[in-house]
Amino acid sequence: MQDQEVRLAHISWREAGERFSRCGVALLPVGSTEQHGPQNPLGTDHLIAYRLAVEAGRRTGVTVLPPIPFGVSSHHSSFPGTVWVRESVFKEYVRDVIISLKSHGVRKLVVVNGHGGNLHALVSLARELRDEGVLVVVYEWWTLPQLKGLFPEDELGHAAAVETSLNLCIHPEAVKMEAAVDEKPAKLPTDGLGYFPERTDDRVRSGVFGTSTTATREKGARVFEIAVEALVKLVEEVKNLEFERQQRAEAR
Ligand SMILES: [Zn+2]
Repeated sequence: MQDQEVRLAHISWREAGERFSRCGVALLPVGSTEQHGPQNPLGTDHLIAYRLAVEAGRRTGVTVLPPIPFGVSSHHSSFPGTVWVRESVFKEYVRDVIISLKSHGVRKLVVVNGHGGNLHALVSLARELRDEGVLVVVYEWWTLPQLKGLFPEDELGHAAAVETSLNLCIHPEAVKMEAAVDEKPAKLPTDGLGYFPERTDDRVRSGVFGTSTTATREKGARVFEIAVEALVKLVEEVKNLEFERQQRAEAR
């Protein structure tokens, strides 16, 4: 399985046809291009999502789509280099990608989401597509319960040590650890009382939420393996799910 090319962008239409007729499941990585503190690359979220998806694709034989690099990130817009699209645009873009795959026989997808701001649109889309006969399951590496026991809360925030460590593991040349900072996010006046449409600059100046200076490549390798193992497990579950039969039963 290891030597098999699973990246859609690297195979021909003929190979894609063969792959989709053998297995109607695909992995779609989505992310963002947004600030990740002074030490991390702007592409962090889509680069990590793609790398995890490719590794899981190699281990399961499932085809991996090219990553969608822009997401719902306007809350980071005061940081140079952040590129965002509206939530409605993101949702419709992802819908069209999935509908075109459906026409090639893909009925089940695991969306590997690298950016929390995309989740609302993805969940709403997944509900709608289920009614149209496509099963979309959304995976996020940082919400895995295994990580919560391994790292303190302040290392799990946006651009903090865990995410920085993953970058050190996957593309160390893109991380500038000498620029890493620790910053405690400011509280919002409505904390614990109600939802506030917060922007990143309401709470931090550096873009880092928590402690990032404790990041290491070893931590990153550990997180990478945990994240890939969980994703592989999810992909296998989705592969084995008899979604079409379930659809027919529901239609009765
Ligand atoms: Zn991120």
